[in-house]
Amino acid sequence: MAVKPKAVVSGGAGFLGYHMSKRLLDEGYDVYVVDNYETGTRRNTRDLAEAGAEIIVHDVCEPLHIAGDIDYVLNLACPASPIDFDRLPLEIMRTCALGTNMLLELCRAHQATFLQASTSEVYGDPEVHPQREDYCGNVNIAGPRAVYDEGKRYAETLCHTYHRHYRADVRIARIFNTYGPRMRPDDGRVVSNFCMQALSAEPLTLYGGGEQTRSFCYCEDLIEGLYRLMLSDYSGPCNLGNPSEISVRELAELVLEFSNSSSELKVVPALHDDDPKRRRPDITVARKQLGWEPKIHLRDGLRHTMEWFRSLTNQ
Ligand code: NAD
Ligand code: UDP
Repeated sequence: MAVKPKAVVSGGAGFLGYHMSKRLLDEGYDVYVVDNYETGTRRNTRDLAEAGAEIIVHDVCEPLHIAGDIDYVLNLACPASPIDFDRLPLEIMRTCALGTNMLLELCRAHQATFLQASTSEVYGDPEVHPQREDYCGNVNIAGPRAVYDEGKRYAETLCHTYHRHYRADVRIARIFNTYGPRMRPDDGRVVSNFCMQALSAEPLTLYGGGEQTRSFCYCEDLIEGLYRLMLSDYSGPCNLGNPSEISVRELAELVLEFSNSSSELKVVPALHDDDPKRRRPDITVARKQLGWEPKIHLRDGLRHTMEWFRSLTNQ
């Protein structure tokens, strides 16, 4: 019998970590899920355990030893919602810095390939539009979002350094706003908030007016991109996201259309004064290196996502 490839997924109790772990199990991998439940859920790990994953409850900031061979280490552990930037600032910085370092060490011990879940936030409030990987970004180091932005930038630098210094095999995915089933209803992100507000007939909250833009990628598309990147030999940063850009206000109107909700739109103050005004990925690198581009239209993705949130409210 052929030996199954083995992958460690940190952050597997979270939204994207769940989907990535599930994809790897479906592809025939042995999967170790590593998570401390900072923002993840036991429901996700229970479902992954039932599908065959081994669950390791562990803070990635501590050294991690796993016996036997490991082929891939995927680092998705990190609180990622802007409300967590205020709630868990030091945990985020530690997880990005120490956690990434510990997992790179695990990777080095096993000569495994390392995939880092980086973010479009490394571009900060971008002055270049759309964002290409060679744009160095516009991050306010003293701003409230910097705990995450600078943490993720440091984590990328660690990956480059392990690559140069130890010849570590690294992949760096710069993930743009991704949404879909398994998001937490109270995670504070715009898609979760709007869906939950629409379902409970509360006003949809437009932070700072809603004219800012984002480009939303459905989780299934994103996971396909991450999987292709993991299997590729491309070690530079790679944007993964949907280039279709809309304003937050337009998103709110779309959610209202789908949910048949009686909710209204309500302008409230911005959460952070360094909230990026616009964001859209240039995915030329992903197209060329991975033959990847998103396929799922926002309308279809939102429909599935609304069903997920509706199922939670019916429980
Ligand atoms: P999430 O909060 O749902 O998942 C993060 C997971 O990491 C949680 O299960 C949490 O418990 C775990 N975790 C946090 N700190 C940990 C620690 N010290 N040790 C062990 N586990 C820890 O968030 P998500 O949206 O699934 O994001 C996953 C990754 O993708 C993050 O690294 C995030 O920065 C990145 N990302 C996500 C998006 C997006 O739109 N969802 C965009 C850009 C980047
Ligand atoms: N946002 C909003 N209302 C909400 C939640 C978020 O207007 O209830 C805005 C937020 O200010 C940001 C955008 O929606 O401009 C996307 O927010 P999210 O937290 O999903 O992710 P971000 O891209 O900021 O990391």
